[in-house]
Amino acid sequence: MDRDRCLALDAADPLRDFKDEFVLPEGVVYLVGNSLGALPRRTAERVRRTVEDEWGGQLVGGWNHAGWYAQPLTVGDRLAPLIGAGPGQVVAGNTTSIAIFQAVSAALRLRPGRRVIVSDLSNFPTDHYMVQGLAGLLGGYEVRDFAERRFDDAAVVLLSEVDYRTGARHDMPSITAAAHEAGALIVWDLCHSVGAMEVDVSAADFAVGCTYKYLNAGPGAPAFLYVNPRHHATAENVLSGWHGHAEPFAFEPGYRPAEGVRRFAVSTPHVLSFAALEAALDVWERVPMAQVRAKSVALTSLFIDLVGDALELASPADPADRGSQVSFRHPDGYPVMRALIDRGVHGDFRAPDILRFGFAPLYIGYTDVYDAAQTLLEVLGKELWREERYATRLAVT
Ligand SMILES: *Cc1c(COP(=O)(O)O)cnc(C)c1O
Repeated sequence: MDRDRCLALDAADPLRDFKDEFVLPEGVVYLVGNSLGALPRRTAERVRRTVEDEWGGQLVGGWNHAGWYAQPLTVGDRLAPLIGAGPGQVVAGNTTSIAIFQAVSAALRLRPGRRVIVSDLSNFPTDHYMVQGLAGLLGGYEVRDFAERRFDDAAVVLLSEVDYRTGARHDMPSITAAAHEAGALIVWDLCHSVGAMEVDVSAADFAVGCTYKYLNAGPGAPAFLYVNPRHHATAENVLSGWHGHAEPFAFEPGYRPAEGVRRFAVSTPHVLSFAALEAALDVWERVPMAQVRAKSVALTSLFIDLVGDALELASPADPADRGSQVSFRHPDGYPVMRALIDRGVHGDFRAPDILRFGFAPLYIGYTDVYDAAQTLLEVLGKELWREERYATRLAVT
């Protein structure tokens, strides 16, 4: 594989025009779209409209006339197709951590006789931290590591489809079936799946995810919570804020849950963040997800081939078993990544020794992958990372 061949692949790429939808700094190959997606070109104007025209022009009338009040549901409906859900099944807002608390606590209430929560110790820590907090609050619960692969007596299983550190992908259908067979409910975390591959939540009980990674909705963008319709009448939202009430503007002293997924809304939506999410969804509505996954597999495979034996691969070698990221191990991973970023190739580092590269197929091309791999090989081959200034850790790695 040489650079000319990559240029030809880019020219023939059916997704090539989407790159123009994004603002990307000159001279940068941005392989951190799995952490914070790039800025869509249309977002600034959409946010400006919300700030100046809606907030500035309509003031409090924006809640009724600019659609702010209904955002958790209208935007939830726009997110639904990206995870294989239907209308009225997804509520947007809050954060992934909060949605995890809501989903796991609701699942526990649906399985009152059981006292085991299965959670993956190698999952992104916040998932497991939220479970620990909830178990501590309730008392009497055992938290069992998913690695044991034992679902017996479990009330709920919480798992990420794609591992944030290695990019390893769990098989959603078989694990969902195994949890159900054991009488447990399952909550899927889709943070590293949504916008990277086709997802089908229809067998899951609950699913959560964020929109600031592959979906490009911006820093601090609203999360989402999917609730399977079979639980709509019985699942309870313990974060019983007024926006989940049947009639928020009746201002009743007692909590009465709304019908359907709206009972999982909690409080006043983050309207400015929703504006950026809506702009990102304007792009996604035109994207064929099967092409995204096909290109993602091609890009990650190309990167692995080009890096070859220069680094130890931490991701699964079979593309069917990984998401849209490639991770390598290196004992000096942190300074290696700093040296790489200094040369325009942006990945990130996850303790203790993981170099992470995310491939967002809407704005990363084959030539980008080629250039990133050559720069990485140079940083390693010439040991450019040994410069002293790369050793000091910044707050966010
Ligand atoms: C990114 C990510 C989160 C983020 O949680 P926040 O509440 O948005 O900070 C949670 N879980 C997983 C698996 C993630 O990858």
